[in-house]
Amino acid sequence: LIRLERVTKRFGDHTVLDHLDFSVDAGKHVTLIGPSGSGKTTILRLLMTLLKPDEGTITVDGERLFPAPEKQVREVRRKIGMVFQQFNLFPNMTVLRNVTEAPVTVLGMPKDAAEERARELLEMVGLSDHVAKHPSQLSGGQQQRVAIARALAMRPQVLLLDEVTSALDPELVAGVLDVLRDIARSTDITMLCVTHEMNFARDISDQVLMFDSGRIIEAGPPEKIFGEPEHDRTREFLSAVL
Ligand code: ATP
Repeated sequence: LIRLERVTKRFGDHTVLDHLDFSVDAGKHVTLIGPSGSGKTTILRLLMTLLKPDEGTITVDGERLFPAPEKQVREVRRKIGMVFQQFNLFPNMTVLRNVTEAPVTVLGMPKDAAEERARELLEMVGLSDHVAKHPSQLSGGQQQRVAIARALAMRPQVLLLDEVTSALDPELVAGVLDVLRDIARSTDITMLCVTHEMNFARDISDQVLMFDSGRIIEAGPPEKIFGEPEHDRTREFLSAVL
């Protein structure tokens, strides 16, 4: 579903991604792990078209995302939803409106249908009792669960998750990860996650990619990467974070 071929990204003379190749099949859950600064977030930002590669091609669902004409980029980009470390909710809107806003304004969905779908999603993330509140009245964990519902409301084929629990107080992390485990189990959405939560990565991933200095140095199912890593660099990283 997602294919990156020979993708290179530089910031000045710093090469963050170096001729990177990888692909994610439809319905799979792939997790990117590796040291800080290794380029993981940059990949998600390229897929969100927040950044452009210097070289290479990116394809989503058989269609070019890069390089591609602007109109095509907008269409392909709609297949992708993202949840960020900072929740980025609209502070002046209710929880319900945060979830209905894009389906109504971007997809042209009728308001009633958007609200019905938003209520289902908010129930799925455990927030049925909070639909009329504003983000400031919710905990960080609850806000992040609204952000997950908001991303899913656009019916993306791919959900990108960028360290979604890093900004949360420790006691709120489990609730958010449980919601994501549930989504991974009960939907056919493709997930690409950057996380420092190794137990979560182990639970949900079909494949784990270990990054170092802009390259994938090791890839495999979680049992292999966490159980029998081949590279010293992977072993060092895991012993530092586990
Ligand atoms: P972390 O786990 O800390 O988020 P990461 O693996 O996700 O790390 P990236 O955020 O992708 O790493 O960053 C990779 C490198 O690119 C870092 O060295 C970072 O400083 C650099 N970088 C990222 N964005 C920019 C930018 N807009 N301008 C210049 N350098 C950048």
